[in-house]
Amino acid sequence: MKKIIDQFITEVQQRNQHEPEFMQAVHEVAENVIPYIVKHDIYHGKNILMRMAEPERVVSFRVPWIDDTGEIRVNRGFRIEMNSAIGPYKGGLRFHESVNLSILKFLAFEQVFKNALTTLPMGGGKGGADFSPKGKSDGEVMRFCQSFMTELFRHIGPNRDIPAGDIGVGGREIGYMFGQYKRLKNEFTGVLTGKGISWGGSMIRPEATGYGAVYFAENMLATRDEGLQNKKVVISGSGNVAQYAAEKCIQLGAKVLTLSDSSGYVMDPDGIDAEKLAFVIDLKNVKRGRISAYVDAYPSASFFKGERPWSVPCDVAFPCATQNELEENDAKQLAANGCVCVSEGANMPSTPAAIKLFHAHQMLYAPGKASNAGGVAVSGLEMAQNSLRYSWTRNEVDDRLKNIMADIHSACVTYGKNGSHVNYEKGANIAGFVKVADAMLAQGVV
Ligand code: NDP
Repeated sequence: MKKIIDQFITEVQQRNQHEPEFMQAVHEVAENVIPYIVKHDIYHGKNILMRMAEPERVVSFRVPWIDDTGEIRVNRGFRIEMNSAIGPYKGGLRFHESVNLSILKFLAFEQVFKNALTTLPMGGGKGGADFSPKGKSDGEVMRFCQSFMTELFRHIGPNRDIPAGDIGVGGREIGYMFGQYKRLKNEFTGVLTGKGISWGGSMIRPEATGYGAVYFAENMLATRDEGLQNKKVVISGSGNVAQYAAEKCIQLGAKVLTLSDSSGYVMDPDGIDAEKLAFVIDLKNVKRGRISAYVDAYPSASFFKGERPWSVPCDVAFPCATQNELEENDAKQLAANGCVCVSEGANMPSTPAAIKLFHAHQMLYAPGKASNAGGVAVSGLEMAQNSLRYSWTRNEVDDRLKNIMADIHSACVTYGKNGSHVNYEKGANIAGFVKVADAMLAQGVV
């Protein structure tokens, strides 16, 4: 089996030189899916995983814009349309200085499996630009978004490709891009998700990824007759996903000890409660400040510059910042400190070596493609509401989100159960694969 997997990886590697994040994502899937293909004749000899590892289309384009000093700046924009077997391309846009083809292809590849797991009819895509909104004025962000959409609008549409937010793309950026799309096309359609409530957005969309990761953790803990009540929780990040993961943990009676950003983490031994979280949300979303400011407002907390929060003893960890932010040594520390559950809010935050350690310690570990699927699931519900020209209530959307997360959990258990342990990574990869592969087989070689 190892030989077959190695052969496959070598071939993908040859076509995708210098794309480490993409190769990491493909490798992880191949290790679970190839043994499954070998055992199931219908998928055998169809080169199906190789077809899934090749994007249907990649668009790369120039994004020129003018900064506040009048200087002309140039960034690079991308859209990866990875797989449309089960629905139109769907996936977020990331604006961050680190964005490149490898990162977006890994995200698009993961998105294909994630979207399949939601049970909603959405294919997978991802896009973005090597532009960071951090430190830019509102005017600069608006001009960038308008220029970005002036090219992207040709490639997207409500039945073709429906982008959403990701790192660096929140409500403000979605608003500017939606406005430009509407102006260029002269039509008001649900071409982006994550829209404001008064112009086509869905209740619970901002909360969905964080809430979903917490619902998924609750489902995992329930398999051991446990819940989040009174659990000590460590969260990385302080953006959209981290904020709402924290909110839901607090509502469920857990004690949230940490939040972070790219400059370090804060640890509050008294717990980050609803009032302190409101301070963080205002700090990050309105003042666009740094997490270190938390200790000025709450002096009993400490700031650890340049560090990640994984050494803080906890029961449950939610990595909600970015890829490869939790490495082998971090996993060792979590396990040694008694952490029993890791639910990924971010995409691919744990390195392969860290994941091996989680399995070795029989921890409840959920990969992002399962545990953070709540965001795209509610995006799917936003698309449904846009098509119906109707809005569901907050409770209706939240109930649907809870059910979807429970269904994803069940699918992972179905394909990942091994004795008393569930390998959620294997379960998510195979469940996602089966759905997409069946549709691809039915549609012929296209
Ligand atoms: P935001 O931009 O709202 O927040 C990102 C957070 O992560 C910030 O606190 C940021 O800190 C931190 N961060 C970003 N890059 C790094 C880095 N290299 N090292 C350390 N910290 C970093 O993004 P989201 O919350 O939307 O996204 C977070 C993760 O969740 C990403 O992996 C994303 O792909 C994933 N995700 C998001 C979904 C969504 O609906 N938004 C859906 C599914 C997954 P700083 O401010 O210093 O940059």
